[in-house]
Amino acid sequence: MSSKRSSKTSKNEEPSVSLKAQTGKTWGRDKDISYNTVLLSTLILTCCPLLVVYFWVVCTHYQCSIIEPIILLQSNDFSKEAFESVILHKLPQFSLDGIKIYFAWLSFQAILYAILPAKIGYGQRTPAGHILPYKVNGLLAWLITHTLYLVGAFYFKWWDASIVHDQWGSLFIAANIYGYFLTFFSFIKAYVMPSHAEDRKFSGSFIYDLLMGIEMNPRFGKYWDFKLFHNGRPGIIAWTLINMSFAAAQYNKIGYVTNSMILLNFLHAVYVLDFFYNEDWYLRTIDIAHDHFGFYLAWGDTVWLPWMYTLQSHYLVRNPIDLSIPYFLFVLGVGLSGYYIFRAVNHQKDIVRRTNGDCMVWGKPAKFIRTKFVTSDGKTHSSILITSGFWGISRHFNYVGDLLISLAMCLTCGFHHLLPYFYIVYMTILLIHRIWRDDARCRGKYGKYWDEYGKVVKWKLFPYIY
Ligand code: NDP
Repeated sequence: MSSKRSSKTSKNEEPSVSLKAQTGKTWGRDKDISYNTVLLSTLILTCCPLLVVYFWVVCTHYQCSIIEPIILLQSNDFSKEAFESVILHKLPQFSLDGIKIYFAWLSFQAILYAILPAKIGYGQRTPAGHILPYKVNGLLAWLITHTLYLVGAFYFKWWDASIVHDQWGSLFIAANIYGYFLTFFSFIKAYVMPSHAEDRKFSGSFIYDLLMGIEMNPRFGKYWDFKLFHNGRPGIIAWTLINMSFAAAQYNKIGYVTNSMILLNFLHAVYVLDFFYNEDWYLRTIDIAHDHFGFYLAWGDTVWLPWMYTLQSHYLVRNPIDLSIPYFLFVLGVGLSGYYIFRAVNHQKDIVRRTNGDCMVWGKPAKFIRTKFVTSDGKTHSSILITSGFWGISRHFNYVGDLLISLAMCLTCGFHHLLPYFYIVYMTILLIHRIWRDDARCRGKYGKYWDEYGKVVKWKLFPYIY
């Protein structure tokens, strides 16, 4: 796990020159964590798990009504007995079956990741100057997993197609056991056997390091990458599997699958398949290029993502809805327009960078700013920031597309309850916070070039709004 093996070659390497802004304390994650950041980190570490448990309880026992348990507690003066009967006695239960299913599924995914034939993709240059290789075989893993799930359920009858729904509580316990184990394992690994020691960031706060991680690219061996595996496999592959299983549960319950459930499954599948079809592109997004591996990604990918990103399918099992054809088409239109924007914006950035700016954008030669940045080994590299096409409209127009798809996913559930809309609220907060984080990172990395870029592309998300 030494840093020596990773590729540091680059055709852009030049002798080090003085680029003061870029060589600041770091253009990776911040050091010098403030008291408020530690406080916020503590809140996230405690509140996120509680929120997932609460949502599990309201979905499983209260028809997905967020306020019903609160009304019940209030009508009993928030007594200890009421708290026990309304919440505590309704918590998910441990079962050996859940543990076996979860760890069999996790091991299966880990083996697929390790042994399936793969294209080798490359990430962005890290702050310490590494360009890491990644095994890209997610699409094949997705196909094998879903084929096995369907054939096992409908042909061999090894399991019921609603198995994930039926074991939802015990799987939740199992996923938490793994999510917490992974968080602490990664934390200790960062100290005792780091994969790339120079890319570690120690903030000085135990809480912050636990939440946001120390190692940037923890790995086993040359290719088994913690971030790509956990985000893609127990995270994103599970997404469509969970939805299908909840659609089967709806069928078992009412005898058919509603068009709202079909639409939701379709929109999620488009997003998930896009992710795996473009897995190589994902290597150059903030998740892989910037984030370190702590609770945020370890527990986030194994518990938060599968349990919170699929809330709409839980809702539709408990509250089946048949959408009118015009409303169905409207939601489909919102989702597909969002998807088009999301993919087209991300594709523009990828193609312009891949061709080093020598390409057409919207029928005209691409416009961009050529930048320089310095890695912590003192070497200077160059990159480009696009300023035409979607990237001339705002600095994160891809997030607009993502927000539209997310909204469409929520709209499949109609307007009777708040819970299905949690996803769009969460995505809005996540992406706006990302804009702030990315701005700080890029200013640190590109210095005066980022200021120049900000003058050309003024809007951060949407023109005249933000
Ligand atoms: P971006 O793909 O926008 O990546 C931002 C990075 O791109 C910057 O850090 C910078 O990195 C580079 N960059 C910034 N401006 C330019 C420019 N003008 N030209 C070229 N490169 C530029 O953001 P994300 O990685 O956050 O998101 C990728 C996609 O994933 C988005 O569509 C987003 O909506 C989606 N997403 C989905 C989430 C979900 O949970 N469903 C969560 C987060 C994101 P550098 O220069 O160092 O390469």
